[in-house]
Amino acid sequence: MSMPAVRTLALIGVGLIGGSWVLGLREAGLVRGEVVGCGRSMSNLKTALERGIIDSATTDPRVAVQGADLVVVAVPLGAVGPVLGTIRDHLAGDAVITDVGSAKGRVMADAAEALTHRYSRFVPGHPIAGNEKSGAGAAFPELFRQRRVILTPAEETDADALERVTQLWTAVGASVTHMTAAHHDDVLAATSHLPHMLAYSLVDTLSRWSDRDEVFAYAAGGFRDFTRIASSDPGMWRDICIANREALLVALERYMSDLAALHETIQAGDGARLEAVFRHARDARNRFLTMLES
Ligand code: NAP
Repeated sequence: MSMPAVRTLALIGVGLIGGSWVLGLREAGLVRGEVVGCGRSMSNLKTALERGIIDSATTDPRVAVQGADLVVVAVPLGAVGPVLGTIRDHLAGDAVITDVGSAKGRVMADAAEALTHRYSRFVPGHPIAGNEKSGAGAAFPELFRQRRVILTPAEETDADALERVTQLWTAVGASVTHMTAAHHDDVLAATSHLPHMLAYSLVDTLSRWSDRDEVFAYAAGGFRDFTRIASSDPGMWRDICIANREALLVALERYMSDLAALHETIQAGDGARLEAVFRHARDARNRFLTMLES
């Protein structure tokens, strides 16, 4: 497969995800010209310049996209629509625009409204990779190696734009899947958004117990493993909850009903039932780990 390099890349939101993609593309030799970084403040952009993620910096998205053939929008979900509306009339004629947001239905509705006649050049994407860190300082080129990236093209998405973005993710080691936005949002509500709710809510609850110092003093590795994702950026997760509200509520309700059943099982002292639930969960997790390793 021939892999055309990017001439000028505009990166709006130079954080963990956008910064890592650009570093990976640079490592793959796919950035021929300049990378222009755009953020709200210069401090993060300065880090990105120092780390060689971007070649120049601006706080004006309209300036950033001038002459760019690829525009990557990697800002928190709530900012995607406003950013796209700001850049629409400043895009180069053939520019491909893509995003990395964790909920797709909402992003696509916002993008269609903001980009109007340019919407066919927009490729909605979501890399299933990341961690609880943020900003340009957290970016690293290997983040997407052997990870999945889901693209959720609309009917009007141009085939060449979709192909280009697919190639640029493949180039950094990702395996790209295409699906509908609705399917993406249901799957991610269950596998990513729900677990984040559980982690945030558990730590929040425990931290408000009167003997919390003792609770945390005796917390060990299991607690640390389970709650790692509660260190994620609160603003980003606020936006994800709001953007994927419907699918997340369905997932939460299913979970709350199973948790209520577990409560009843414990209350009834039904040891056989408890063991059956735990055995089923352990086996499912082992299958998941085997799948990850293969
Ligand atoms: P991040 O590290 O916080 O980076 C986002 C960057 O966007 C920040 O450096 C911020 O810089 C900039 N920014 C915020 N609002 C902006 C605006 N209105 N205009 C221009 N720049 C703005 O976040 P991230 O983890 O890379 O996440 C970015 C996107 O990726 C989110 O939509 C998220 O849903 C998605 N995502 C995240 C993960 C993950 O695990 N983290 C995984 C998959 C997808 P300034 O503060 O200097 O403006």
